[in-house]
Amino acid sequence: MAEWEPVVGLEIHVQLKTRTKMFCRCANSFATEPNTQTYPVCLAFPGTLPTPNETAVEWTLKLGLALGCEIAARALFHRKHYPYPDLPKGYQISQYDEPLCLDGRFTLPGPDGDSEVGIVRAHLEEDAAKTIHVGGATGRIVGAAHSNIDFNRGGTPLVEIVTRPDIRSADQAKRFLQLLRQTIVELGLSDAEMEKGQLRADANVSVREAGETVYRTRTELKNMNSFNHIARGIDAEVRRQIATWEAGGEVVQETLDYEVKSDTVTPRRRKEEADDYRYFPEPDLVPLEPAAELLERLKAELPELPGARIRRFEREYALPFYDAEVLNGSAALAALYERVALDGVDAKAASNVLMNDFVATGVDPAVVNAQELAKVIGARATIPRATFAKALAESGDPEFKADAYLGEALVADASELEPLVDRILADNPGQVAAYKGGKEGLLGYFVGQVMKETEGKADPKVVNDLLREKLG
Ligand code: MN
Repeated sequence: MAEWEPVVGLEIHVQLKTRTKMFCRCANSFATEPNTQTYPVCLAFPGTLPTPNETAVEWTLKLGLALGCEIAARALFHRKHYPYPDLPKGYQISQYDEPLCLDGRFTLPGPDGDSEVGIVRAHLEEDAAKTIHVGGATGRIVGAAHSNIDFNRGGTPLVEIVTRPDIRSADQAKRFLQLLRQTIVELGLSDAEMEKGQLRADANVSVREAGETVYRTRTELKNMNSFNHIARGIDAEVRRQIATWEAGGEVVQETLDYEVKSDTVTPRRRKEEADDYRYFPEPDLVPLEPAAELLERLKAELPELPGARIRRFEREYALPFYDAEVLNGSAALAALYERVALDGVDAKAASNVLMNDFVATGVDPAVVNAQELAKVIGARATIPRATFAKALAESGDPEFKADAYLGEALVADASELEPLVDRILADNPGQVAAYKGGKEGLLGYFVGQVMKETEGKADPKVVNDLLREKLG
């Protein structure tokens, strides 16, 4: 049986959270009553002219710089034609052969080193309006009684990012998208929430035998609205293509929908050729020529990006990759971690507490007084477990003070704990026999019983010593 290698490239659309739309002044906010955020320009009234949103252009350049792209000295808007009711002009203003950002590289840190994903381009365009099919069982056009169009979304700014086919697994695709999302969020360009459609990703998928140097026919996977669905969709399509080739068949170029329930892909339509869109330069907009001073300013404004920060956390705090990646899943959590770790708490212990206990509380890391939290974490071995948990849960309170939790000491007096230890051993003769027979892992079970009975107030070290002594 041949060894097959998945080959994946991604196309990502991101909604920019600028105050106004791409080419007119109406509010970029479509979470309001349908068709209330409209204007003659985005409704395509005859005689209206587009005016580019300067912030959207700057943000696209900033993202391009963060993706290591070359910035074009001159970029053009083009008209991309396709007939659809949610596109009132009959074309979308997009970019074609002269996009703003070209030829970047995005470094994806992983447990076994970095991988690089090439960026073909990142360009700016406007979104279509939103079609809502009503009356059908599936929310799709087939079977719908009628369709409504909400023009609030029409003309809002979108950045489209196209990667090279450098991705070699579904898991790598997912991790790339998660880090790209985190980068976009931290640059302040978008909230990039997939479930709200603020970040949408399509995957171009093909497979080839190990050692092959050319690419085989690819398909395009659409309609995936979470990172997990994308990974599962790619896996399903890779399996289908391998099975097709191995059965002596041929993969045809087409667009597919991934159906989560059945974990299968279904054909949508044959892919249009690029010429079908009849691209031509938008005659109502002048070319964009980003000034050198603007690019210098944007470069200077770039913060430390999450990918680089993951590697720095590994280095500076001697953390495993896993910890560094989880802590950097949000800028606020990463910042809280650094403030706690720099306050003298053991770096790995602080990481364990934040990743596990703290995150589970749902407290916003941005509002926590790090110094007070560091005191609580530093004292965690000397206070009852339940008190520690309570402190973490209340750490978002503006009045949060470590001292309020540190007064209650652990029961460390062996003579006070001994009767309880004796009773627990007497109640569990089977486990005692098993322990004595060599199952030493059962020590943890006995410690757990003591902790349960004392509501976490016993000093674990004293309990351990007592148990070892009694179990011989
Ligand atoms: Mn697009």
